[in-house]
Amino acid sequence: MNKATKLIHSIPADRLTGAVSVPIYQTSTFVQDAPGQHKGFDYARSNNPTRAALEHTIAALEGGVSASAFASGLAAIDAVVKLLKSGDEILAVDDIYGGAFRLFTHIYEGFGIRVNYADTTDVRNVKAALTPATKLIWLETPTNPTLKISDIEAIAAIGHEHGALLCVDNTFASPALQLPLKYGADIVVHSATKYLGGHSDLIAGIVICADEETGARIRFIQNASGAILSPHDSWLTLRGAETLYLRVKEHSANALRVAQFLETHPAVRQVFYPGLVTHPNHDIAARQQQGGFGGVVSFSLKEDTEAAATRVVCSTRLFKLAESLGGVKSLLCHPATMTHKSIPAAQRRNAGIADSLVRLSVGLEDAADLIADIEQALNLVHSVHKSTAASTPAAAALWLS
Ligand SMILES: *Cc1c(COP(=O)(O)O)cnc(C)c1O
Repeated sequence: MNKATKLIHSIPADRLTGAVSVPIYQTSTFVQDAPGQHKGFDYARSNNPTRAALEHTIAALEGGVSASAFASGLAAIDAVVKLLKSGDEILAVDDIYGGAFRLFTHIYEGFGIRVNYADTTDVRNVKAALTPATKLIWLETPTNPTLKISDIEAIAAIGHEHGALLCVDNTFASPALQLPLKYGADIVVHSATKYLGGHSDLIAGIVICADEETGARIRFIQNASGAILSPHDSWLTLRGAETLYLRVKEHSANALRVAQFLETHPAVRQVFYPGLVTHPNHDIAARQQQGGFGGVVSFSLKEDTEAAATRVVCSTRLFKLAESLGGVKSLLCHPATMTHKSIPAAQRRNAGIADSLVRLSVGLEDAADLIADIEQALNLVHSVHKSTAASTPAAAALWLS
């Protein structure tokens, strides 16, 4: 059966009422017939039917044996780190999500868990950075905001030879494009806030495991630490996830057109998008991401200053200035002063996050409208007003309306 058909029919109609939408079981506890005799649910931190429906669907989407939903992407990441103990080490991608870096450095180093960073885009760096204490390898691919790509299959093999688990933060690609468990990863985490939810209307996270034992440990941690996703947000995430394939396909098609346009604009220095043949690991991305390259595109400006980037991000009309990504509405942000401002300037520039870098989350508006929007903003920082096919009178009329 086609994967989209399976996704849409992953949850049967409600057995009690026939409701086609999973009911929101807004309850804290469940009546028992006798002590320990219940219908599979005893207390809503441990299990809730609405959350269970979401977990069932996302486990199937990622090809895992189990999934556990959390109150945020960071709570999901936190649960995975809790698989470790004091003295263990994590080897993480150097271009890691800032919130994960903060959690690792400012919380877990205090508990005796060390984190080493490597440029995982070259597998030789992964081999070289492993130590006898490395118990977990942490990847993001593509990364945020420079869209670096790492080879999941090769790194899983290296990790397993070493006795380390591989966890992939699959937030940017989403299971519509990339299935890390298929390539040997042990664990996948998501900020479901982004593409899984897909509508910029919730905060959620999820952990998916390839084997029963790890899945049971994550479920134990979920119940023991308690950072569960609420029934209502579970329902919203499930509702969003039903259209994942449709949305991500369109996000990817729009993003590719935007990236190709950016490459032609004279104000742009460099475009970061795995779908472009100029991307250094385009071939790996093309092999491990199927059906598109995602909705996030970053670019830097020839005038590499914070002022020029600020001018651009404050001049778009469809792309709204906000952190986050993955929703139907296009967003843009300036990492140096927004998502990555806590990183010291020299370290940030070293990681490839230029002062003028702008990150786009390309939404589901019409691609020509989005291109016209970026073009008029870029023209403000470039004296030569280059006309392109996107500057049709129809697009111009949009600004006047
Ligand atoms: C947003 C994000 C997170 C954190 O998720 P929250 O839902 O905001 O807690 C983790 N990893 C990546 C790649 C993200 O983009």
